[in-house]
Amino acid sequence: MFRTPRVSAAPAVLLALVLAVACGKEGSPPGKGPAAEKLPHYQVDEGFKLPESKTWTRAKKRGHLVVGVKEDQPYLGEKDPASGGYSGFDIEIARMMAASLGFGPKSIRFKTIASANRETALQNGQIDFYVGTYTINDNRKKLVGFAGPYYLAGQSLLVRADENDIHGPQDLDGRRVCSVTGSTPYQRIKDEFPKAVLVAYDTYSVCVDNLLTYQVDAVTTDDAILIGYAAKLPHELKVVGRPFSKEPYGIGVPNGDNALRFALDDALEAREKNGDWKKAYEATLGLSGVPAPTPPPIDRYQGGS
Ligand code: GLU
Repeated sequence: MFRTPRVSAAPAVLLALVLAVACGKEGSPPGKGPAAEKLPHYQVDEGFKLPESKTWTRAKKRGHLVVGVKEDQPYLGEKDPASGGYSGFDIEIARMMAASLGFGPKSIRFKTIASANRETALQNGQIDFYVGTYTINDNRKKLVGFAGPYYLAGQSLLVRADENDIHGPQDLDGRRVCSVTGSTPYQRIKDEFPKAVLVAYDTYSVCVDNLLTYQVDAVTTDDAILIGYAAKLPHELKVVGRPFSKEPYGIGVPNGDNALRFALDDALEAREKNGDWKKAYEATLGLSGVPAPTPPPIDRYQGGS
């Protein structure tokens, strides 16, 4: 057995290794990834203009969009270590949003940003917008803007397949539970289940490594994320209990750029209406076995940033 280092470079590699070993085992199903040939092509709005948005104007001048994402969340935001390409539902949302803003698939650069660094990345102009399991809430709305929501997740628990004593957060007293710094699930365990022994890392893949190597007893975050890990290692991992929070996913935009925020709201609405949202879901997150839900209504809140 080995201890997972507390740095963020190794985790994806470790999990990839574990996944590779697990997939090679006799009787394991082949690893399912997004079906590239089934991914929709999004019509690019070539004549689109949004001069009121500083972010859009800067991206147009630069010639490409920079979109913050995750790289270790199966079916949501995953980076292929060999090709460097990104795939998953959040990536598709980013691509369809880019198309609506007048940027084709070759005019997007993805940048991996961990949960704890999202607000800073948007504030510093490191990214134009962010699509990565990003819960909309009032605290975050003080720092960034949110388009959406485009999906509704809920906090849940991932345990080893042989674990029989953890069925919900009430069973975590004295048990080691792993989550990610700066995330809403981490905060909820801290506030509402203080008897759990909370372990925090930068990414969920490190938490999953820790679970597989018996360093922790559970991993907690959104069901959408956990279902992806469990679907990749069905003999080793399982998601237990019912979701115990509401995590509406939004697209993070720089504070004050309401023009961009409302343009993304319009774009989401249009892509939900024309079927692109559903096609994207089915080619990515839907592969983990959950049929396409109806997307939540777009908020389009006034004021804020
Ligand atoms: N949706 C939650 C959040 O925004 C958990 C997932 C994540 O860390 O990205 O904090």
